[in-house]
Amino acid sequence: MTTLFVNAHVVTMDDDASEHAGGWLLVDDGHVRDVGGNAKPEADEVVNLSGAVVTPGLVNTHHHLWQNLTRARAQQENLFGWLKALYPVWARIDEEAEYAAARAGLAELALSGCTTVFDHHYVFPPGATGLLEAEIRAARELGVRIFASRGSMDLGESDGGLPPDGIVEERDEALAATEQAAALADGAQVDIAVAPCSPFSVTRELMAESAELARRLGLRLHTHLAETAEEEEYALEKFGCTPVEYVEELGWLAGDVWCAHCVHLSEDEVSKFGVSNVGVAHCPSSNMRMGAGIAPVRELLDAGARVGLGVDGSASNERGDLFLEVKQALLVARARGGPEALTARDALRLGTRGGAAVLGRDDIGELSPGKRADFAVWRTDGLELGGATDQVAGLVFSGPHRVERLYVAGEEVVRDGHLVGADEEEIAREHRREAERFAA
Ligand code: ZN
Repeated sequence: MTTLFVNAHVVTMDDDASEHAGGWLLVDDGHVRDVGGNAKPEADEVVNLSGAVVTPGLVNTHHHLWQNLTRARAQQENLFGWLKALYPVWARIDEEAEYAAARAGLAELALSGCTTVFDHHYVFPPGATGLLEAEIRAARELGVRIFASRGSMDLGESDGGLPPDGIVEERDEALAATEQAAALADGAQVDIAVAPCSPFSVTRELMAESAELARRLGLRLHTHLAETAEEEEYALEKFGCTPVEYVEELGWLAGDVWCAHCVHLSEDEVSKFGVSNVGVAHCPSSNMRMGAGIAPVRELLDAGARVGLGVDGSASNERGDLFLEVKQALLVARARGGPEALTARDALRLGTRGGAAVLGRDDIGELSPGKRADFAVWRTDGLELGGATDQVAGLVFSGPHRVERLYVAGEEVVRDGHLVGADEEEIAREHRREAERFAA
């Protein structure tokens, strides 16, 4: 069945950055069949979007869904102090809590216009089972795409790492579980990545062997990198080089890798990111919340690096709203580089097409014939857009917004600002019930 969405300003994010005022979008069998602004094609069903803006669904390139169980903790700590406060609390994670957290986190993201979520799960306490399965189940129920990951930590405190010994794993166990997790991917709604946590919680051996495993299985690789000044000091002291130089030695500067944060990069490292085609998950709210600094996004883009946006876990960015990150990316780039550093449309591109490129997906992040019909519909008749002559820029500057409608593969996930496949109030209630176990 074909559905024609009419009376919209369609932002395609295609190679020419085409936009269609008074435009339409034709969807067929989960894909965009055509898009335009002139004569409308015939369709089985017509949906009038009443002057809304339509964008590709947002793509979240870095998150830790379970962390919304522990919001507003360690409020004045830097990354290391914050992690040390939270590791023992996170060690309580189990399947039920993960499911409740994933439902809440994915719901919050969907309502912010996000259709694809990468989740970096790296806490696997002894005996905990079904964690990835729980988040995948939540994503299927809500109707969003999930890029889950089997993360890992094997460098405990007694070996010079940051996490307590009680929540790190044996290297071989972590690798075997990662290989097993690869079977959860379905090639459409569920992807799997290999994602050892960070240079200060993972051994050199596990970083290198994770890369080998990912390449043997054809999976993508992800980690945290160069987030704070403390991490750089740690690397200089332990490895005698910067975090980027360290991962470069281990085969991690490559086109199948993307890294979260990348705040502290030298000029030379920025150009290396471009040359080696490494992706970056830029998480502006989290970086500001932790006082980590501002990533050199303009410089990375100029160097040819792939850059997408991430909300990061909701313990370091209490709001899981990807549209907010689009706005934050715009503002921090300008705070760093002046008003010409990034346009509103550049920022929106980071959150859509940029994120898709970071995740290695060329079938999402863009509304062109043949792409998946993942798109967000934004109302333009609210108080905050009055007087905006450019509604696309107006949306970004005045964000965040609750999405009016959201579609994944042409299926409705949000209608009239509410989830279609789940009850938001019930999700919030269950989430609070599970979060009680993480309160103290
Ligand atoms: Zn993170």
